[in-house]
Amino acid sequence: MLSAALIKEFKAIVGESNVMDSEADRHAYSYDSAVLQPVVPALVVRPESTETLGKVVKLCGENGLPVTVRGSGTNLSGGTIPDPRDGIVVLTNALNRILEINQEDLYAVVEPGVITAKFAAEVAARGLFYPPDPGSQAVSTMGGNVAENAGGLRGLKYGVTKNYVMGVNFFDTEGEKIVTGSRTVKCVTGLNLAGLMVGSEGTLGVFSEIVLKLVPPPAANKAMMVLFDDVAKASQTVAAIIAAKIVPCTLEFLDNFTIRTVEAFAHAGLPVDAKALLLIEVDGHPAQVADEAAQVEAICKKMGAAGLHVAQSAEERNKVWEARRAALSALARVRPTTVLEDATVPRSKIPAMIKALDEIAAKYKLQIGTFGHAGDGNLHPTILTDRRDKQEFERVEQAVNEIFEVALSLGGTLSGEHGIGIAKSKWMEKETSRGTILYSRRLKKALDPKNILNPGKILGEE
Ligand SMILES: Cc1cc2nc3c(=O)[nH]c(=O)nc-3n(C[C@H](O)[C@H](O)[C@H](O)COP(=O)(O)OP(=O)(O)OC[C@H]3O[C@@H](n4cnc5c(N)ncnc54)[C@H](O)[C@@H]3O)c2cc1C
Repeated sequence: MLSAALIKEFKAIVGESNVMDSEADRHAYSYDSAVLQPVVPALVVRPESTETLGKVVKLCGENGLPVTVRGSGTNLSGGTIPDPRDGIVVLTNALNRILEINQEDLYAVVEPGVITAKFAAEVAARGLFYPPDPGSQAVSTMGGNVAENAGGLRGLKYGVTKNYVMGVNFFDTEGEKIVTGSRTVKCVTGLNLAGLMVGSEGTLGVFSEIVLKLVPPPAANKAMMVLFDDVAKASQTVAAIIAAKIVPCTLEFLDNFTIRTVEAFAHAGLPVDAKALLLIEVDGHPAQVADEAAQVEAICKKMGAAGLHVAQSAEERNKVWEARRAALSALARVRPTTVLEDATVPRSKIPAMIKALDEIAAKYKLQIGTFGHAGDGNLHPTILTDRRDKQEFERVEQAVNEIFEVALSLGGTLSGEHGIGIAKSKWMEKETSRGTILYSRRLKKALDPKNILNPGKILGEE
């Protein structure tokens, strides 16, 4: 329970209307997009400037109050579930200014609460390109993207958020501003603190400003939808395209259950009878695009595709892409609880992973819709369930464990893009080593001796 004097201090920093202490308000910030137990914070604070953000962090540091920064709360790993010991949620939605888009030197500077799609659109309006495009981009924030090292549909060719972060300014637990990276293409000054901060999930500092790399947009692109009457053929085609040394910008997979559910939701003209679908886009110089598209078509046919449709217009392409982005929301309508996984395998192991997912669904008698960024080995098996059904939910937990076991046994990883949070911290040692956990905990302890920065996330409780 926070004292009235302390609440007054927060109000003095950010203004009365930016401190929420009513029960209803606090409940609204007790959960995120992961299926985990909510925790009601002691207070919710909304700084309107980076200066006051620093003061809020300092006050929390002085009083040993756990701080969980919240962008839009769309993370799928419990990263914004507050700490039960008088946790303070700090909202970044008022820190939403794009400070600079530099067309000469190809970078931009943003505050952490800027919405991803809004930023990408502002950049595009100036003839430039910011490639990371998480499915949640219409609502997610740049701070959340950097903290989770978010990926997206274009990750295969363009990489994920870390490939675009040139620098981050952040506050430490004493409210001291740390400046990392630079606006130059090359910068090797000092420790690579910006690199350390990307993917740190709010556990090492609170971002106040982010410098991002921009790139020229591709001159041409070609998108196609490839139909398969057999899931194995589709997954083998993914492996064959990569093995042929072609890197499409997008190579997405949808199984039949996902196709049907998305079509019922988005009416994008997806073929509901197909057993699986690949959505493929190549981009770049027009000559390269023509050449790579022809090679991809040939590979798909050789691998036994049942049909192939090349998008004839930007409108047609966008309609299908939007439908793919809606996959999770569409699946989430089927049952009350949606458990989305993020286990990722080397691309050549995609056929084995998809086969294993089918077997897991049958073994535990569960409905699993699988879609995802097949081109980077990052599948999203999505279990549709009802958390109130205790017996079924036990089977869900067993299935999730087995999904991770299989992914790790295939040389994969726990998370391709959604982060570890509290959802997967218990698995960390299995993928890495005991030494890795101890080393990371020592690092955290040195930087955050009172353990106030998003405690329990990634490394669990000691
Ligand atoms: C429908 C849907 C589709 C999705 N699709 C994708 C996808 O394609 N790819 C993908 O990678 N993810 C995806 N996600 C997951 C999620 O959108 C991303 O993790 C996103 O980056 C979270 O952004 P956010 O603003 O909601 O951050 P939040 O969920 O609010 O926070 C995420 C983490 O960042 C920390 N954080 C936020 N701001 C700061 C800051 N200023 N300083 C320090 N730490 C901070 C938080 O404490 C938390 O640990 C999807 C989620 C949904 C619901």
